[in-house]
Formats: sequence, C-alpha cells, structure tokens
Amino acid sequence: MTVGDQTVGDETVGDEMVTVDGLRAWMVEFARIVAENKEHLTQLDSAIGDADHGINLNRGMQAVLGVLDGAPPKEVSDLLKTVGMTLVSTVGGASGALYGTYFLRLATSGGDTSELSPAEFGAALRAGLDGVVARGKPELGDKTMFDAMAPATDALNAALAAGERLATALGEASSAAAAGRDATIPLLARKGRASYLGERSIGHQDPGATSTAMLFAAAAATLA
Ligand code: ADP
Ligand code: MG
Repeated sequence: MTVGDQTVGDETVGDEMVTVDGLRAWMVEFARIVAENKEHLTQLDSAIGDADHGINLNRGMQAVLGVLDGAPPKEVSDLLKTVGMTLVSTVGGASGALYGTYFLRLATSGGDTSELSPAEFGAALRAGLDGVVARGKPELGDKTMFDAMAPATDALNAALAAGERLATALGEASSAAAAGRDATIPLLARKGRASYLGERSIGHQDPGATSTAMLFAAAAATLA
C-alpha cells in the first residue's frame, strides 16, 4: 500500500535514511531534554552519587550545540566525532568518558558519509554500546546507563532485522530504554560512585540510565 509518496508494507522504503541533519536534530533534541531535566538528573545523582550528573551533562550538551552551530559538519563521522570530543572535554566524571566514547565509536562505525541506512545506524549504536562496555565494564543489572542502552540497542536491531520500519524500531528502542531505566530502581549498584553505597543504593533510579533513556527518546522523536 502507499501512504503519501511512500510505499510501506513488505517493500523497503528507500528514503528511510539517517542523515547528518537528522543526527544534528537528534543532538538538539537531546540537549533540550537534558536542559529541561537537569535538576531531575542532578537530584537522582544526589541520592546515589555526587549530585553533578544533570549539571555536567547539560554543560556538555550546551557546548555541543555551540560547536555544531559554529561549524556544521557535513559528514556523519565528523558530526559524531565532534559530539564525542566535546563531551569528553566538557562533561567530566564517569559519564563524560562513557558518553564521549559512545559517540566516538558511533563516528568510527558511521564513517565518512552523508547518511546511514537504518541497518548502518543500528550497527553504529552497537559499536557505541561496545565502547561503553570496553570503557566501563558494565554488565546488565549493575545499575548503570548500560541497563538502558543495551536493551534499547537490542530492541532497535531486532526490530530492523524483523523488517520493521526505522520509526517503529526507534520507538521500540525508546520504550526498552525507559523500561531499563525503571528496572534500575530496585538494583544494588555494582559500578561507579553509587557502588560505594552498597545496599543503600537500592530503591533509587540510576541517573545515567535516566539520561540514556532521554537519548533514545530524542532519537525516536527526530530520526524517524
Ligand atoms: P560521576 O559518577 O563520575 O559523578 P556522573 O554523575 O556524570 O559521573 O554519571 C554517573 C552515571 O555514570 C551513573 O549513574 C552510571 O549510569 C554511569 N556509570 C558510572 N560508572 C559506570 C561504569 N563503570 N559503566 C557504565 N556506566 C557507569
Ligand atoms: Mg555524579
């Protein structure tokens, strides 16, 4: 069947690509959500950390907006590398290194091109996740950003492999990230600052998993 000028159903939709402009819109939307929720993120981090996650990530994403405004990159790898390097140099803490690594790995996987197919985008997110694992050694259930990022990445790639459209896959990824975020509440933290609290970390939502759910919500809102 056709909807507008797009053919949907069992035919591949050729114009369903993740462009540099799309990736930029993703970062703008992520920055907007982080800014809107910076107190919430910091308050979550005050319960099981050092009360800086919202402040730090907001500072980093505002810096990303500034850099992207100044010199708009034309290729996927340039844009994502700029995001990663800006986050590494402005966020600090565990999440600065982890989100920085994440976007640098996305950049390498994405490559020197102006757009990615949904499958290429899924592979880039997988490479980013692998980077977070290499850097922080998180495992599922450690109560970290990985608990949102891993199920979201799995959901996106599984949906694409099943022939779903990018919009559907991104929606499923966002839902999986939100479920992973919520599932951190009863967990005992085993990585990062929160792990110093031991049993007292139980009953609190992980700040990094919360910002990662925002990252995937922003992707679903902009890349579909
Ligand atoms: P810091 O703990 O250095 O103050 P942030 O407050 O910015 O850094 O970020 C804390 C978040 O980083 C945690 O909520 C958790 O999701 C994530 N995190 C910390 N350590 C790790 C790790 N080893 N692997 C994955 N994520 C981690
Ligand atoms: Mg902190």
